[in-house]
Amino acid sequence: MSAGKGDIKLDGLVKRYGEVVAVNGIDLDVPGGEFFTMLGPSGCGKTTTLRLIAGFERPDEGEILLDGVDMSRTPPHRRNVNTVFQSYALFPHKTVEENVGFGLRYQKVSKADAARRVGEAMELVRLGGLGHRKPGQLSGGQQQRVALARALVLEPPVLLLDEPLGALDARLRIDLQVELKRIQETLEVTFIYVTHDQDEALTMSDRVAVMRNGNIEQCGPPQELYEEPSTAFVANFLGASNLVPVQAAADGAGGAQLTLGNFTLVAAECAGDLRGDALAMIRPERVRLEPHGTTGENRMPGMVEEVVYLGFHQDVRVRLATGALIRVDVPNDGDAIEYEQGNAVSVHLPPRYLRVLETDEPAPTDQPDAAPAEVS
Ligand code: ATP
Repeated sequence: MSAGKGDIKLDGLVKRYGEVVAVNGIDLDVPGGEFFTMLGPSGCGKTTTLRLIAGFERPDEGEILLDGVDMSRTPPHRRNVNTVFQSYALFPHKTVEENVGFGLRYQKVSKADAARRVGEAMELVRLGGLGHRKPGQLSGGQQQRVALARALVLEPPVLLLDEPLGALDARLRIDLQVELKRIQETLEVTFIYVTHDQDEALTMSDRVAVMRNGNIEQCGPPQELYEEPSTAFVANFLGASNLVPVQAAADGAGGAQLTLGNFTLVAAECAGDLRGDALAMIRPERVRLEPHGTTGENRMPGMVEEVVYLGFHQDVRVRLATGALIRVDVPNDGDAIEYEQGNAVSVHLPPRYLRVLETDEPAPTDQPDAAPAEVS
């Protein structure tokens, strides 16, 4: 259903608002047909980047290329991209069908072709049968589907989506995430998707760019970002992580020796040449709790300080003898030991799951129970 390949390239893109540098020199290559997500906290420059691609803003520096052609000076309506916003902005007095077909009025399309394309777009977003309703007679999720169909019917090679699920409740968001991915794969349209919701980014994207202060902090497939975050900011923004200050020294074999109080830990891998102050990072689901007194490599004694029951798993917070607080995700699989406040345990941080990162401010997290480990 799309025309053109839909390759997007950003080259040295800069946008300033007075003193504020909203976009600070972004370079990016998005191949046609990719589901690409820009993820980051409020104010990091996601929406501005999207608006620059859409043409609603002019860059101060840099180029925006669509299929190799610079379009940074092309007005929005002449760009071969379409945008879906969080607010659906539907015409309330027009029917669903009329809303979906509205943009086709400005294309040279016969009535028969227009009707066919509207029908196809509505089937694609599973709105068949609702064509004669008015937007006010639809749920929020259905209205967002209309907005999506209205953009897709124009067959753009690139679709820009700015928090399109932001106004929907959690359950509906999950359903629509799956739908959006299906639609994107069916049409092979380039999706550039903006969100501050990590689950959304992980679920749907081929690649994710984690943004911070107008820059891309790290860009890669979701699994790579989750398993191999290159900074504390990324580690904390995507999922929960334990970040423990340590002293690092290279072990000469590609890994590192980490000193934490009186304990020495081993990390199997250590990117770069980190020495001195560093952060040891491990995901809560990769930490193992073992019976009190268990000793050996990367094992430290600790005391259970708090247990949060979360249904499918328990979030067990353990205070290490060194003072650091470690979160441990214990699956509720029926066989797991029940932990209680005050239990003495041994905490095992397997070397292959321990990453060594530069000391840095971790990302803010909006989950009150997802605080990083701290040393008291
Ligand atoms: P959010 O998730 O809250 O939408 P965002 O990551 O999309 O945030 P942007 O909207 O791109 O962030 O804003 C980036 C920075 O630019 C912020 O500091 C913001 O205050 C500033 N900014 C954005 N638009 C304008 C504007 N029209 N005038 C002045 N400053 C702006």
